[in-house]
Amino acid sequence: MLGTVLHGPRDVRCEEVPEPNILHPTDAIIRLSATCICGSDLWPFRGLNEVKSPMKMGHEYCGIVEEVGSAVRSVAPGQFVVGSFCISDNTCPHCRFGFQSSCVQREFMSGAQAPLARVPLADGTLVATAEVPADDLIPSLLATSDVLGTGWYAADAARVRPGSTVVVVGDGAVGLMAVLAAKQMEAGRIVAMSRHKTRQDLALEYGATDIVSERGEAGVARIKELTDSVGADAVLECVGTKESMAQALECARPGSMIGYVGVPHGVVFDGQQLFFSQKGLLGGPAPVRRFLPHLMDLVLERKINPGKVFDLELPLSDVAEGYHAMDERRAIKTLLRV
Ligand SMILES: [Zn+2]
Repeated sequence: MLGTVLHGPRDVRCEEVPEPNILHPTDAIIRLSATCICGSDLWPFRGLNEVKSPMKMGHEYCGIVEEVGSAVRSVAPGQFVVGSFCISDNTCPHCRFGFQSSCVQREFMSGAQAPLARVPLADGTLVATAEVPADDLIPSLLATSDVLGTGWYAADAARVRPGSTVVVVGDGAVGLMAVLAAKQMEAGRIVAMSRHKTRQDLALEYGATDIVSERGEAGVARIKELTDSVGADAVLECVGTKESMAQALECARPGSMIGYVGVPHGVVFDGQQLFFSQKGLLGGPAPVRRFLPHLMDLVLERKINPGKVFDLELPLSDVAEGYHAMDERRAIKTLLRV
């Protein structure tokens, strides 16, 4: 079959790869309905994470179960499933506390930018729908696998409450999903920090009440102005750079929480500064599995449309163009038809 392999910086190829097989009795093989490119795929693509050997790309997935190992009980061939990008058993203590992305058996999904993928720990990782969903719901169901689940976790970790004033730092796909999540959690005010018209428009559609296009000190000053010099109740950091994290910390009021889901690159915290700022931080890889059943229901009931975040759709054979378009910010997020 054809699959996506990253060979080095800016060298991503759609090429012949072996079909996946059941390796353990707890595995499932799924036939993907669609797959996509993640913002985090751009870190190795840009050479910011070292690529030591060819990497099979893709960790966001949904599709039809093709085959299951002998120990799999909760899903069966023919069912439509969505799974998290974090593989989890969903039974260990961390999973039971809702932190499946710290599962003692955690693995990260790979190789999903392909027509077929192997999902380890299928019982713990996959969630099946009652019936095969309508085709037009596939992009939104695919979004629950990572990008929506991650934005949702940012809002959950930052303890967004009804009426909260929320600031979202980052207007990538995760930031836009964080806006959607804050809206679903009934935030009173949602400030999206964005400088790009198309992303601002989508943020407004997803529930942002204010747009702040300034960054750095000017951005912080605007947030202070909007909050009577107090700062936000919850800040959702969806980038992962030194600048975005500094901005998130400064926009938050004392006693608030910062949910940070952008993988930090070059971020260093000052202990004393954190101590005196009295702001909480919770982040990390999102425990998407905790939120999946709820998010899938919201999509199946057509209450949310996270799939709109895909503004470029390509056949798998054009995957390289999908990476370049996202890298150059010509596309927010690329959906791949397999
Ligand atoms: Zn676990």
